[in-house]
Amino acid sequence: MAVVEGAELTSRTKEFLSSNRKLLINGDWVDAASGKTFSVTDPATGDELCQVAEGAKEDIDRAVKAARAAFESGPWAEMTPNVRSKLLWKLSQLIEENADTFAELETLDNGKALSISKAVDIPASIENFQYMAGWATKIDGRLMTLSMPNTHAYTLREPVGVVGQIIPWNFPMLMAAWKLAPALAVGCTVVLKPAEQTPLTALLLGELITEAGFPPGVVNVISGFGETAGAAIAEHPDVDKVAFTGSTEVGKIILRAASGNLKKVSLELGGKSPNVVFADANLEAAVGGAATGIFFNQGQVCCAGSRLFIEKKAFDNVVGGLSDVAAGMNVAPGMDAACEMGPLVSDVQLQRVTDLVEQGKKDGATAVVGGEPVGGNGYFYKPTILTDTKPDMSVIKEEIFGPVVTAIPFEDPNEIVAHANDTEYGLAAGIWTRDISKAHATARAIKAGTVWINCYNAFDPHMPFGGYKQSGIGREMGPEVLDLYTEVKSVCVAL
Ligand code: NAP
Ligand code: MG
Repeated sequence: MAVVEGAELTSRTKEFLSSNRKLLINGDWVDAASGKTFSVTDPATGDELCQVAEGAKEDIDRAVKAARAAFESGPWAEMTPNVRSKLLWKLSQLIEENADTFAELETLDNGKALSISKAVDIPASIENFQYMAGWATKIDGRLMTLSMPNTHAYTLREPVGVVGQIIPWNFPMLMAAWKLAPALAVGCTVVLKPAEQTPLTALLLGELITEAGFPPGVVNVISGFGETAGAAIAEHPDVDKVAFTGSTEVGKIILRAASGNLKKVSLELGGKSPNVVFADANLEAAVGGAATGIFFNQGQVCCAGSRLFIEKKAFDNVVGGLSDVAAGMNVAPGMDAACEMGPLVSDVQLQRVTDLVEQGKKDGATAVVGGEPVGGNGYFYKPTILTDTKPDMSVIKEEIFGPVVTAIPFEDPNEIVAHANDTEYGLAAGIWTRDISKAHATARAIKAGTVWINCYNAFDPHMPFGGYKQSGIGREMGPEVLDLYTEVKSVCVAL
């Protein structure tokens, strides 16, 4: 851990990185059955942070067995909703007490600015646990009046069972919170696999889950690779449900793998979200929103506003403003207090973004600013604005997942909905206008799970999030997420 020597880190961060991290199975921290470990690196330098256990099929089997036992009998199976609620709240408090450690590990592991980890990722994770703690005591069925005479009928909502959760590297802690909190609120048990690039905060969370008093086996955390550990979860015959966030490509693999035992599947996948600026908008606010939409988290956001449509009259103004923001951004290691944009998560991701932009330039696009890696150590890419694109270019069609926006002028406001919807994705959209009718009408016409009007990337645990079309299946957060983790049982009594 040469990389962190001398840095101002909490003692818990230092201690956490000072030894190999293990797997959490049935309440114990254990090595992988194979004994293998893999390296976790700091994307700002490429240096190793620590080694973590490389869980695979055998470890997943053991974790599923533990999760099954905890689900079927013992303290968790018998626990009343208010006690589950208290445990979730306790966990949120422990995270809060260790917020600096979580933020540091997140930044070292993922690359994002420490100020962002502290202001966004960790507090939002805490809020999610607290919000779902409230739901634990409010999972009701309903009473039904049937046409059949002399009957008494009602529904029960029961936890779906053992849940496998596979999460990505862009918001490692927050994605763990989005997945774990509702599953635990309703009484499921979980096998969680964090992304290979960013397992650290999920592993620390595992420690606090034990500390909070969740019984052994309720949450099992298995670091490892997608093709082995992830695949073993998706195809496991004793997993009742799999929840996945990541690429659309892997989402389809998960869906196929899940068909063996027809496990329930929820998917939160990629996007190519339109951010539409009408000429009558507050253009200063729209420029800020366009920047947030694409540069937040280095553009590694599933709902990034990567297709920026601007009404022609305002095009030069908005692109000029956004160029100033992009050119002025301090691209630096996340631990640097002045960092405004950190590195991409990995060399693979840097290469992916570089290749897509190169292809775009070959196809005729112009990089108004950026358009290349920063160079030197770490996986830094320059904030980039592309113009002169055509609808069939790969930079328009494919998710770049980097700080790269395509700015596209439009002339006829009546045609913008067709352009916005011209994508296989449907995760999110932004609309900037002062005309409320136009704003709401456009929001209805766009096929996306979330539409932001005069804002972007606004999230709240009470607001459901998920995708139309190939952006996914199901909705996370809000009361809607409870559907993903419960089964409904009809009970009919003859009187
Ligand atoms: P990914 O492969 O979809 O990874 C997401 C998660 O799925 C990781 O935990 C991964 O494990 C696991 N996984 C991979 N292959 C699997 C399989 N066959 N069975 C079960 N689980 C599997 O994403 P990525 O390769 O890291 O990134 C590729 C692209 O995905 C990005 O460029 C971006 O376009 C998109 N992406 C989207 C989101 C989002 O929030 N929607 C997040 C991340 C990436 P490993 O860690 O071992 O890969
Ligand atoms: Mg890392």
